[in-house]
Amino acid sequence: MIVYKSKEEIELMREAALVVSRTLGMLAAEVKEGAIPLELDKKAEEFIRDQGAVPGFKGLYNCPSTLLISVNETVVHGLPGKRPFQNGDVVSIDCGSILNGYYGDHAYTFEVGEVEPEVKRLLRVTEECLYKGIEQMRAGNRLGDVSYAIQQHAESHGFGVVRDLVGHGIGKKLHEDPQVPNYGRQGTGKKLKEGLVLAIEPMITLGTHRVVQLKDGWTINTADGKPAAHFEHDVAIVDGKPEILSTFDFIHEALGIAIND
Ligand code: MG
Ligand code: MG
Repeated sequence: MIVYKSKEEIELMREAALVVSRTLGMLAAEVKEGAIPLELDKKAEEFIRDQGAVPGFKGLYNCPSTLLISVNETVVHGLPGKRPFQNGDVVSIDCGSILNGYYGDHAYTFEVGEVEPEVKRLLRVTEECLYKGIEQMRAGNRLGDVSYAIQQHAESHGFGVVRDLVGHGIGKKLHEDPQVPNYGRQGTGKKLKEGLVLAIEPMITLGTHRVVQLKDGWTINTADGKPAAHFEHDVAIVDGKPEILSTFDFIHEALGIAIND
């Protein structure tokens, strides 16, 4: 069952999403060669609590951490450990918050030092996929339009679209209906309506789209060991159009990237 949100609820959700946006912005300066994921996790938890929010993932489904940090061939759900980042790594950081009783959930893939050109291209295209999907999140469109836009863009660049993990509705629960696959057919699926709030999160791979789960019960890796990228925003339909509640502005500011979204 889809829980549609009022404009007032969407404003509360924006505050929850921005807690995560600011946290990812703080982390942007910390993701560098030699940094320890476990230490970033502690910093992020403090930073979230300092904003009067609580970590959204920690404790949910027995998740042990505030962040999920997925390096190179890890697509998503990497648990923060002690192995330092190395030059050339790509690092997806997924973070959740709870504020005002609502969840925020968003993610960005960072580069450590000098990254291979084809991997840089994977990151750029995955971020573009996110915005292509968001663009379709309009009242009257169908869920398949969002999914198709993401798949089409990724595959047109020769990249793989992970099937086994999907985006989702978000609200008072982290994972609400509907599921939002990153692949699908135009004009199919649920009709999109005012007040829908989705976490849209393309997970795109350099090689095969197939994934495997490690024995820790969390980590999802590409089956061929090639890198993956993951970008996520929380998006609402307001006045029929997509409104992005989270932002990468804090990250772009920290990294000195011109802000254009
Ligand atoms: Mg997430
Ligand atoms: Mg999510």
